[in-house]
Amino acid sequence: MIMWNINKKYQNLGTEFFSFVSPTPLMNNPSLIHINGELVKQLNLQNISAATWQNILSGVEQCAGYQSLSSIYMGHQFGVLVPRLGDGRAILIAEHESIDGVSWELQLKGAGATPYSRRGDGRAVLRSSIREYLVSHAMTKLNIPTTLALGLLVSDDKVVREEIESAAIVLRVAESFLRFGNFEYFAHHNKPQELVKLIKFTIQNYFTHIDINNANYIAQFLQEIVIRTARMVAGWQSVGFVHGVINTDNMSILGLTIDYGPYAFLDLYEPKHIFNHSDSEGRYTYANQPHIAWWNLYRLAEALTILDDVSEELLQPVLDSFAEYYNHEYQTIMWQKLGINDYQRVTDKNLFEDVLKFMQVNKLDWTYFWRKISSERGTQDLLAQYSNVKFDEIMGRIQSEQSLTIKSQDKIYQQMQKVNPAIILRSHLLHMAINKAKTGDYSEVDVLFKLINNPYEEFDGYEYYYQLPPMWASHLSLSCSS
Ligand code: AMP
Ligand code: MG
Repeated sequence: MIMWNINKKYQNLGTEFFSFVSPTPLMNNPSLIHINGELVKQLNLQNISAATWQNILSGVEQCAGYQSLSSIYMGHQFGVLVPRLGDGRAILIAEHESIDGVSWELQLKGAGATPYSRRGDGRAVLRSSIREYLVSHAMTKLNIPTTLALGLLVSDDKVVREEIESAAIVLRVAESFLRFGNFEYFAHHNKPQELVKLIKFTIQNYFTHIDINNANYIAQFLQEIVIRTARMVAGWQSVGFVHGVINTDNMSILGLTIDYGPYAFLDLYEPKHIFNHSDSEGRYTYANQPHIAWWNLYRLAEALTILDDVSEELLQPVLDSFAEYYNHEYQTIMWQKLGINDYQRVTDKNLFEDVLKFMQVNKLDWTYFWRKISSERGTQDLLAQYSNVKFDEIMGRIQSEQSLTIKSQDKIYQQMQKVNPAIILRSHLLHMAINKAKTGDYSEVDVLFKLINNPYEEFDGYEYYYQLPPMWASHLSLSCSS
């Protein structure tokens, strides 16, 4: 019977990189709300019973053969250097290898204080845990690189935030939870040997095409992260995802979306809208995400320059290549959303910018617009709805550009429906699921999980979820507190 197949990779790095720490169990009526069956299968962990998962998630039961730990890192938070952070409420409970040879890290989020908790309690509330659990799956199904979530547990243990809330735990999964901040930490504290060890560890486990004997391997390492980050952020922009707190400690070295907090998906296309009210300057708006990603890469590159033979001149062209990689990824996805496969052959060069301007000026909903133009009926609906604002003119330009490469309109629509989701996790949908969950009713969590599992399909009977948000949704705001 296959259960844990422990392969200690990160742990073998040594205690310069982490501290051993045990979860503090949630004791008050812990209850498993949801488990991601598909992910359990992918990890070949089907033999673990629901009761055991509940014990693992609540922190009562350890994974056999693994001593749990929390990592040390630092970060630039809202642009400010913070020299010592670390997993303040995340505990790595297993490193497990699935049959296909992939090594996975399993991490509890909210399992109590660690040496890096500072003034925090090491806990997570139900609200933020539902949000992280659902969005991890949503992003997976939207083909955007992300950490995964295997299970969600709630308890009657109470934690104090702006109000008193229930403590919950998410079991997260990723090939690695390493962040830019892990590397910055060893640079800032002038520990080049540890920094090199961590870089080589990352290359040998995750960037295996890079040869550490090549004199240029550090630049190649940075290049890989630049490419992955560009791909991730382009994915975010395509679905209107706003992370909300892209500090360098929340930037994954593998280019995964990580540490979901006050995230939001755009409703109206307002690129400068501030969702996270802790971000008063609007550092982390939708419009700013590509620039901030690049700024964060810059901080990572700076950390690498403490090493012998790694100069700014060596890394500058690598950093500069971000714009090119990002633009290519972004243009590719965005033109595909418009039904155009090869953006380099487009004749109406301003079309795309004009569509965005049109959306902004006329306050169009991001997801709704793209999905509507992905079918004949939807296009007709929009034409009727926006007859007063020259929608026909912009639609005419879109269709004439589309027809230059693909002749069949049906085929164009089919392709567009594969890149323009019918559903994203709108804030009000999450809000409704959370409010119900607070009364002990998790049915909306189940519904949302089911719908986002197939974001490009529209299920009968769930029309409400595909429609525009109600008026009250525009008043929702999010905080960092979670
Ligand atoms: P974030 O920006 O939410 O990823 O968190 C920034 C830092 O604060 C990380 O080092 C977290 O581990 C830590 N942190 C956040 N919330 C808590 C908490 N409730 N208890 C302890 N540490 C926390
Ligand atoms: Mg974080």
